[in-house]
Amino acid sequence: MLDDNQEYALARCRDAIESITRFGLAPTPPHYAIWYAYHARRNLALRRALDIVISNGRAVDEQLMAELHDTFFSAAAEDRTLREAARRVQETLQSLTGLLAGAGSDAARYSATLDAVAVEVQGGQADLPDLIARLLAETRALAARNERLGRRLEESSRQMSCLEKQLEEARREATIDVLTGLMNRRAFDQAIRSLAGEAMNSGAPLALLVIDIDHFKAVNDTWGHVVGDAVLQLVARRLAHRARAEDRPARFGGEEFVFLLSGTRLAEAVAIGDAIRADLEAQRLVLRDTQEAIGTVTVSIGVAVYEPGERLTDWIGRADAALYRAKAEGRNRVVAMEHAAAAAD
Ligand code: GH3
Ligand code: MG
Ligand code: MG
Repeated sequence: MLDDNQEYALARCRDAIESITRFGLAPTPPHYAIWYAYHARRNLALRRALDIVISNGRAVDEQLMAELHDTFFSAAAEDRTLREAARRVQETLQSLTGLLAGAGSDAARYSATLDAVAVEVQGGQADLPDLIARLLAETRALAARNERLGRRLEESSRQMSCLEKQLEEARREATIDVLTGLMNRRAFDQAIRSLAGEAMNSGAPLALLVIDIDHFKAVNDTWGHVVGDAVLQLVARRLAHRARAEDRPARFGGEEFVFLLSGTRLAEAVAIGDAIRADLEAQRLVLRDTQEAIGTVTVSIGVAVYEPGERLTDWIGRADAALYRAKAEGRNRVVAMEHAAAAAD
């Protein structure tokens, strides 16, 4: 059976799905997150905002949902809500499956027993058939009710497993850059924290490359954004191609990429950076439709190795300063910036 918490969660799941249906909204994870929070009174400000909109007769539509989502679900809060919702759905689903199986076999057993009793009774005791017939009718009614209940439960569990898949997908998408398929900034922020922690424990070196496309604005201006996007995808593919299993390439934003190299010292990181640079310089880009040559796309790269204990922002700042120097010295090159302590060794 469901415990009180699960009953409550299931009821709020149903409320959320019902509200989404009532307002004709698409059953997306953000909509679900908003309505679950609304019905579970997770966020009183959100609840108040929605109540005011509803009582003023303003449209409860996709646009309002997007506004509310932006206002009330920061990236971290959304992540937490999604994780929590997925966990609850999972739990409820498991309980429902158990409940259904139990209800089905109980009802069937009950019906079979009563059938047997009815046969015995019809063999002699005259005043019982009536009672038994009524009992049988009731049992069948129970079975029918259970079947309806079963169908209802099955329907909700189907909805919920669908929701669970959407939540899982949303969680995955929250870490991926849509254009390039690389890790996004948010996932990179997590990766760099955890890898720096590991490096501090193990003492293994950890290198960071900051990679920025040269004169990318000119690519957009000359060829348009669609071609610009294709160039970003090409750079991402070449980075992913270079990455070993323990490396972490990511899109830092715009036309800037980052590459975390585990177990890699400065000289080796510079060599890897230069291989990436040379590989991109060697690509001959042509427009797919007309075969017109776009020419080459080059990158500048800043390199810095983590100095255990230094602030992550300082480390990233050093790689950035190195990148800035690579740009100033003429682009299409790799520049490393040593930590003052390491340089003094
Ligand atoms: P520099 O060599 O100094 O790096 O010059 P740059 O032109 O590459 O740098 P700048 O920062 O002036 O321009 C970056 C351009 O990148 C501007 C922006 O429109 C473009 N950009 C950022 N994100 C995207 C994107 O997702 N797609 C496309 N097509 N362009 C983008
Ligand atoms: Mg650039
Ligand atoms: Mg840039």
